Amino acid sequence: MRPSRSPGGRLSPSEGPAGRWPDDHVRDACGVFGLYAPGHEVSRLSYFALYALQHRGQESAGIAAADRGGHIVTRRELGLVSQVFSENDLRTLAGELAIGHVRYSTTGSNAWENSQPVQRSEGLGGSRREVALAHNGNLINALELHEELLERGVTFSSTSDSEIIAAMIATHPAELVEDAIADVLPRLRGAFSIVAMTKDRVVAFRDPHGLRPLAIGALEPVGQDGRDSEPPRYCVASESCAFDIIGARLVRDVQPGELVTLGEDGLQSRIVAGGQRRAFCVFEYIYFARPDSRMNGQALQVARGRMGEILWREAPVQADLVIAVPDSGNPAARGLARAAGLPQDDGFVKNRYVARTFIQPGQELRKHGLRLKFNPLPEVIAGKRLVVVDDSIVRGNTTRQIVQMLRDAGAAEIHMRISAPPIKHPCHYGIDMSTREEMIAHGRSTAEIAAELGCESLHYLSLEGVYEAVGAAAGGRSSHCDACFSGSYPLAGSDGAAGKYSLEEQPSGGDGRRQQAPAPLVRA
Ligand code: SF4
Repeated sequence: MRPSRSPGGRLSPSEGPAGRWPDDHVRDACGVFGLYAPGHEVSRLSYFALYALQHRGQESAGIAAADRGGHIVTRRELGLVSQVFSENDLRTLAGELAIGHVRYSTTGSNAWENSQPVQRSEGLGGSRREVALAHNGNLINALELHEELLERGVTFSSTSDSEIIAAMIATHPAELVEDAIADVLPRLRGAFSIVAMTKDRVVAFRDPHGLRPLAIGALEPVGQDGRDSEPPRYCVASESCAFDIIGARLVRDVQPGELVTLGEDGLQSRIVAGGQRRAFCVFEYIYFARPDSRMNGQALQVARGRMGEILWREAPVQADLVIAVPDSGNPAARGLARAAGLPQDDGFVKNRYVARTFIQPGQELRKHGLRLKFNPLPEVIAGKRLVVVDDSIVRGNTTRQIVQMLRDAGAAEIHMRISAPPIKHPCHYGIDMSTREEMIAHGRSTAEIAAELGCESLHYLSLEGVYEAVGAAAGGRSSHCDACFSGSYPLAGSDGAAGKYSLEEQPSGGDGRRQQAPAPLVRA
């Protein structure tokens, strides 16, 4: 069912983020997808790829599509993928190439103007450049670049850092979009995995540190005879689970600093920025990415299972039963139970459809708190010494309620085991976390946190344990970012990076310099 919309097609404020159920997880940043595939239903493939990437962002979704040489048409809206697109939308988005995006806001608020793909048209006549762009990540020099563009007379219709990148590419004088990107990319600082399109090609590029994931897939040929004569067609996505759903095959990851072009000549690649410290987000292995995705050669379900095994090795305890906080704690709980030789069961039933609701629970239901999301099973729990496995704790509100629910259901002892180290520092690279002061692990010892949560014991997986689980082949600590655990930011100047709403707070980003927001269906 679609949420009701105002006449302008936007959700009213009461239907916005306030409608989320309480959740104490870090927020995923965004998911991106793109493909060049004449002869395929590009918007339908994009829809299902975004559907597979929905866990990376639930605030808005969008697809831009074009025929070679035609106009780019974009449809974007607040809401889940299944709420945003109708059959009719997909027909309108016909074409031979397309890009898509699901968003959770990390720069700029959850407003329609900040949904993606961002579309920009610059120049006139033969030198006119039309670009649509989808971005996962966060620039740490967004304010500086924004100021510079405003001084050049460039106007903006959003407060997201993604439009800054789109504007830099669209206004660049280079004839080829690849040359424009090669020149712009070294000026961008921070995390970015980007899929963009012009009227005749899809381009994808990744920051030189490779902070956020981006992978290349190959599509199955279409047609009655397998169409061996059809040239190979490629797609790109944040995670390989997007390839599985559309029958594509994972080819490889886009390398840090690499620019790939998907076009009539198949797949072209060039390295446009290299030689910098790699810093892939280690939290992708722990929580963000879907367990059926593969990253750096790792199947994440397997890596998470190993995290559970190591967690048990680091902190065994006398117990009767292992339960997971569903669903994110499931793979580590299975690994821990395997290593412990303990039985595992479902201690909770999770309402799978509660991720986003547009109705507030109200006073009467609010007192039941997390029961709206998890319902404990007293018949499984009562009288047992439990090992309860979750993947992370941020503020601790959810974990505190979980411990209380288990206690109310008759648990004899509750031993929390977390398959990540304590989160003590904010992320400046595209993941929305609380402030340092809100984080339960900030300034507290593990024993103090256990007392706050009301459990008998608490143990976090060590950082060494995380890297052991991920495997040496992924490159170890020197190839990853673990700043939210260690406070060691891989990019200089990250600690002073501007916050999520920085472009809205900027005086020069006010109404006087902004364009009118375009209508939801943009035909440039
Ligand atoms: Fe990932 Fe944490 Fe680094 Fe952010 S700070 S990129 S969440 S490891």
